[in-house]
Amino acid sequence: MEFEPVIGLEVHAQLKTNTKIFCSCSTKFGADPNTHVCPVCLGMPGVLPVLNKTVVEYAMRMALATDCTIAHQSRFARKNYFYPDLPKGYQISQYELPIAEHGHVNITMEDGTKKRIGITRIHMEEDAGKLIHDPTRPVSRVDFNRTGTPLIEIVSEPDIRSPEEAGAYLRQVRSILRYLGISDGNMEEGSFRCDANVSIRPRGTEPFGTRAELKNLNSFKYVESAIAYEIKRQKMVIGDGGDVVQETRLWDSAGNRSISMRGKEEAHDYRYFPDPDLVPLVIDDEWIESVRKRLPELPEARKARFLDEYALPEYDADILTSAKELADYFEDCAKEVENPKIVSNWVMGTLLGLLNAEGKSIEESPVSPAQLAELLILIETSVISGKIAKTVFDEMVKSGKAAKAIVEEKGLVQVTDESAIEAVVDQVIDANPAEVEKFKAGNAKLMGFFVGQVMRETKGKANPQIVNKLLKKKLG
Ligand code: ADP
Ligand code: MG
Ligand code: ZN
Repeated sequence: MEFEPVIGLEVHAQLKTNTKIFCSCSTKFGADPNTHVCPVCLGMPGVLPVLNKTVVEYAMRMALATDCTIAHQSRFARKNYFYPDLPKGYQISQYELPIAEHGHVNITMEDGTKKRIGITRIHMEEDAGKLIHDPTRPVSRVDFNRTGTPLIEIVSEPDIRSPEEAGAYLRQVRSILRYLGISDGNMEEGSFRCDANVSIRPRGTEPFGTRAELKNLNSFKYVESAIAYEIKRQKMVIGDGGDVVQETRLWDSAGNRSISMRGKEEAHDYRYFPDPDLVPLVIDDEWIESVRKRLPELPEARKARFLDEYALPEYDADILTSAKELADYFEDCAKEVENPKIVSNWVMGTLLGLLNAEGKSIEESPVSPAQLAELLILIETSVISGKIAKTVFDEMVKSGKAAKAIVEEKGLVQVTDESAIEAVVDQVIDANPAEVEKFKAGNAKLMGFFVGQVMRETKGKANPQIVNKLLKKKLG
């Protein structure tokens, strides 16, 4: 029997507010343990939480960016459990009345296929602290700095059908969060976390199978490999005549497998109830519209504009708009240069190649958009060839010097003087009588040999179009 995977993702994104969700403690990362705490986030008796308005605005931004309906009234609940890094003994989270529901995110797969993934709900909640286990001593410590940091949870519909779609969805969600400027979406640092729910069903049938929930997926690669593993595991269970059981599984990245953490019987009963310390959250249309008006251009719209304004291929537009900073870099450079496709080729090929090799982000690029533009204008105005430009680029990275300065210093200006090139062409023809004979006898491939010889003689500086033209004239 052929099976079809059914996948739904729960994403927790840490919001980039200055202060926590229910108190005025700083959310700054990296402070000394337990220095960003107060009676509220330490769960002292008698304190009262006060909702941070910026958290609500950020959640509204994400809701609008994903076409959700924002609730005019939503509510916070207490999710009760004992955990050493949550001193109140409960987490404040929206539960039965979340701030937003019924949205969607559009994804584009590598082969160009498009798909819409439904968003079931978005809700706000507080993060827990961090346990620090000291491997050298039989103690664990707790750091409450993160306790009360605002999160939004984004729950997808079970619309995802493959590990690759899950990856594309997560990248799109992260890209939207970053364009909105509300989360840095860093999976490795834990500011963007994902749980994956996976089940399988016979292809062509309606009812969903029993799902397993995968936790501890802290990289895009792990999400995709954990889901792929889980699909295979469930197929084997069913293939062996067994039943998939509802459970939570932990991904073991070192062993490339998942391990059962707890079954349904052990599932928590959190005894949710409305938090009596917080009034219902009321949002009117005026507030919604004011947030909507202030939304920045989002990845999909920017991609459409790149296709239209710069006439880029879809593939290029997809890559360039995948991150706001990359799109900004491209546009800063493209506004100086005649042909946007040259900019796109250089940014996606040469520049991203370099940055990837050095593990740098676009913001850390050693070459600024203006500096790259200066180089590309030299190609466009035939001062240097594209090939020489690669050498100049490497030198720019190494020395930090400007393209023009390097070209002048090293005498790399392209030779476009026909008579100068003609002299070299004649010289090459004279020096290679045997090849000339073969070429004339019909071996057309030797053209490349002659071009190569002329380029070598001119140290790559001869204009290739002129070289080709002259060789054809003389040999043809
Ligand atoms: P919980 O809070 O117990 O995790 P939810 O109802 O909030 O349960 O569902 C969580 C996620 O599981 C959602 O993303 C949803 O799309 C997904 N999901 C629900 N049922 C299935 C299923 N049978 N197979 C795969 N994913 C599922
Ligand atoms: Mg869940
Ligand atoms: Zn506090």
